[in-house]
Amino acid sequence: MLILDAKGTVLMHNQAFSEMIGGDCSGANIKAVKGMLEIWDLFQWYIKGGKEEQGRNRFSFHDRYYEVTFNDFDYKDKTLYSIVFHDISHFLSIEQELLKRNKELMAINTLSSAFIIAKDMGAVLNRMMETVMMITDFSLGWLVILEKENQKIVSMKGVPEGLKRSIEDGCIAEFIDSISNEDEPLYIFDRNDIQLIPCLKKEGIVFFGVIPLRVYDSLSGFLCLGNRIERTFDFDIASMMSLVGNQVSLILEKVKLFEETKRLSITDALTGLYNARYFYQSLDKEIERAKRYKESFSLIIFDIDDFKEVNDNYGHQTGDEVLKEFSKILLQLTRKTDIVARYGGEEFVIVLPNTHKDVAYSLAERIMKEVCETVFRCNDNMLRITVSGGIAGFPEDGSNSKDLLYSADMALYEAKKQGKKRVIQYRGDTR
Ligand code: GH3
Ligand code: MG
Ligand code: MG
Repeated sequence: MLILDAKGTVLMHNQAFSEMIGGDCSGANIKAVKGMLEIWDLFQWYIKGGKEEQGRNRFSFHDRYYEVTFNDFDYKDKTLYSIVFHDISHFLSIEQELLKRNKELMAINTLSSAFIIAKDMGAVLNRMMETVMMITDFSLGWLVILEKENQKIVSMKGVPEGLKRSIEDGCIAEFIDSISNEDEPLYIFDRNDIQLIPCLKKEGIVFFGVIPLRVYDSLSGFLCLGNRIERTFDFDIASMMSLVGNQVSLILEKVKLFEETKRLSITDALTGLYNARYFYQSLDKEIERAKRYKESFSLIIFDIDDFKEVNDNYGHQTGDEVLKEFSKILLQLTRKTDIVARYGGEEFVIVLPNTHKDVAYSLAERIMKEVCETVFRCNDNMLRITVSGGIAGFPEDGSNSKDLLYSADMALYEAKKQGKKRVIQYRGDTR
């Protein structure tokens, strides 16, 4: 505590103040006391009627923080002033710690909400990246996930077109690979080091971080973040980044679980093809789409001929193997956009978007011939099978899924009736 007159002359101060400034300054003007110019300014502000306000009367001196309070009082016809310095360094560090914790909690909360709010998984990852960048204050970033050890970029935010292409072409893949055994994030914030990654340097990126995303011991991907402005790398950034990394890893794990559950729910367990449920959904979707764009599409149903005999002659297990091998042929001969599903026991369906019935017929014939020519080697047995197929086209053979399926089924029935080992297109008269 010290006492001044209006001109700033220090009339007296206590021992604590001597300890604070490291000496005695009685009689000196406060302006002249080393480090106290700011106090002089505050004092002027007070004299002119400044009201106390939050943070206004904080003062730092030799790495410590003080809250300063002023008071005036009359003494022998003069107005004198007291200044009291409260050392608040300790509270301030608690306050900063609280602010930091609060920011971290907000980060966790905001990141989790990205997962809760978004509808599909692509949107979850995009939202998550947006949130990550908002929290960490980076201007560009992308998320790499590992699929069978291959890097796959699943979301990018703020990345300019040119760099986007370079990244997709793998300009950073090797670098990321090289740190995949590291547990800790890697940060590059030295201009010389950035030169090691030319595509980043070219974009003027001066701060780049790669955070490995791990849950337990398994590495699921990397979070890459960059900035064009330099920033000091300190403990706070590092701890925030590792917190964000942990949260992103957990969300990624949930996303993967969710995707896997979704995949299983639409997959036939024996063959790995889509199941009937997914087929019905896809058929309805395809009808909607074809109606909207005034397109046509086709539906093929295959039924393995005399499959019961396969089971009877070779056993159920061999029958299962045949179904698997048959599925492989279907996948090999169809396009990625076709939906191949196991409809029932030894019945299979293919939805061929944007494909005319004649084209579907040629494909069905090709499949039928391939199946007939294939020697199935299953469980030490060598056997041959034949297959029959029925084909229906949208919109001519049915404008809804029920009618379309009925038409394809009728065509299949006709194929069986004519002696099997053939494919038949539905024609109105077979109905
Ligand atoms: P068709 O030429 O008239 O189609 O005669 P089919 O013997 O193929 O037809 P049917 O409907 O009489 O018999 C189908 C057989 O398919 C009977 C059933 O045991 C068998 N099957 C159905 N699902 C499976 C399966 O998952 N595994 C095995 N191994 N057999 C199955
Ligand atoms: Mg059948
Ligand atoms: Mg059959």
